Formats: sequence, C-alpha cells, structure tokens
Amino acid sequence: SVEPGSPYRVVLLGASGVGKTAFASIFAGAADSMDSDDCELCGDEVSEREIEVDGETASILLLDTWDAEKGDEWTQERFMQIGDAYLLLYSITDRASFLRASELRITLRRFRPARHTPIILVGNKCDLVRRREVSASEARASAAVFDCKFIETSAAMQHNVWEAFYGIVRQLRLRRDSK
Ligand code: GDP
Repeated sequence: SVEPGSPYRVVLLGASGVGKTAFASIFAGAADSMDSDDCELCGDEVSEREIEVDGETASILLLDTWDAEKGDEWTQERFMQIGDAYLLLYSITDRASFLRASELRITLRRFRPARHTPIILVGNKCDLVRRREVSASEARASAAVFDCKFIETSAAMQHNVWEAFYGIVRQLRLRRDSK
C-alpha cells in the first residue's frame, strides 16, 4: 500500500565533492528527473520515486542541493526549512567536509527542532580506505552528540546507499506513527 499524502521531501546536504550528485543519480535510477525549470527551488535536480521499505511503499522527493556554499543565503535557508528529512553527507577522505557537516547540522538545528526532523550523517566514499581521514567511531560519536543516525556508504560501489534511504523512511514512519 502507498502511504497517503504528499511524498516525503528528503534533502541532500554537504560540502562540495562529497558525493551528493552520485547519491542523487543512484536514487533517480530510471525515474524521471525534472530539470531545474520545473523546480520552484531552482536547484540542480529533483527526482521523485516510490521505494518499498519493510513491505510498505513510500514516496520520496529527493532534493539535491547544489553546493550550499555557493548558493545564496535565502536558498540555503529555504532548504533548511522544507525538508521532512536530511541526508547530511561528508567524505571519509576529507576531514574538512566532516567539519562542514557538523556546521550544517548546527544550522539545521536552528531551523528544525532537534527531535522532529530525521537526519542521517552519511560518511561517503568508504571504498577509499587508504585515504580515510575520519574514523567511523569518531563519526558515530559525533552523530550521537548531534542526535542523528550514522551510516558509511560508497556511492561508487553502490554500498549502503539504499540503506541510507531506507533508514530515512523508517525514521519518518516512526515519527508519523507516534503522532
Ligand atoms: P557533489 O559535489 O557532492 O555532488 O559530489 P559528486 O557526486 O559530484 O562527487 C564528487 C566526486 O567524487 C566525483 O568524481 C565522484 O565520482 C566521486 N565519488 C562520489 N561518491 C564516491 C564514492 O563513494 N567513492 C569514490 N571513490 N568516489 C566517489
């Protein structure tokens, strides 16, 4: 059965080069993607598709923020306000992107009260083991402090990417069911 109502809006956030576009392409797969002219946010790309999680279909609208750093403040704030859930990406090979994720988490908390918006901290590029700059245990600890879940992924190897989306849907449902 399809969940009623509008799709869940899931926003990809993170520094430039961490793998947001790669994530969005895996998600989009064969789904139609609309170009930016159709998007009220004028972002890079938006795609919508249904995915089955635990035997129930969920509809997700994925918003790939083009580099939040380059976007104007209004646009950034808009993204902070409209998501039902957030995938906060960094690259395990780039400590600066990990610090950037922490900053984004803090900004997000200002816009969204902590317990109500599901956020998953995503350490991408876990295939690049020799270039690792951020350990999983450090990231897990940071996620705990920031009250979000944590997962390591490799968009290049298509490892754990769908698990990140499933995790988001499960958290959204927990929130829905507790209402
Ligand atoms: P964005 O700026 O956040 O959208 O990052 P992109 O998706 O454009 O990725 C930046 C670069 O990292 C590209 O060359 C990707 O091919 C590469 N990349 C993305 N994800 C991974 C990954 O999981 N592993 C590896 N090795 N490279 C990746």
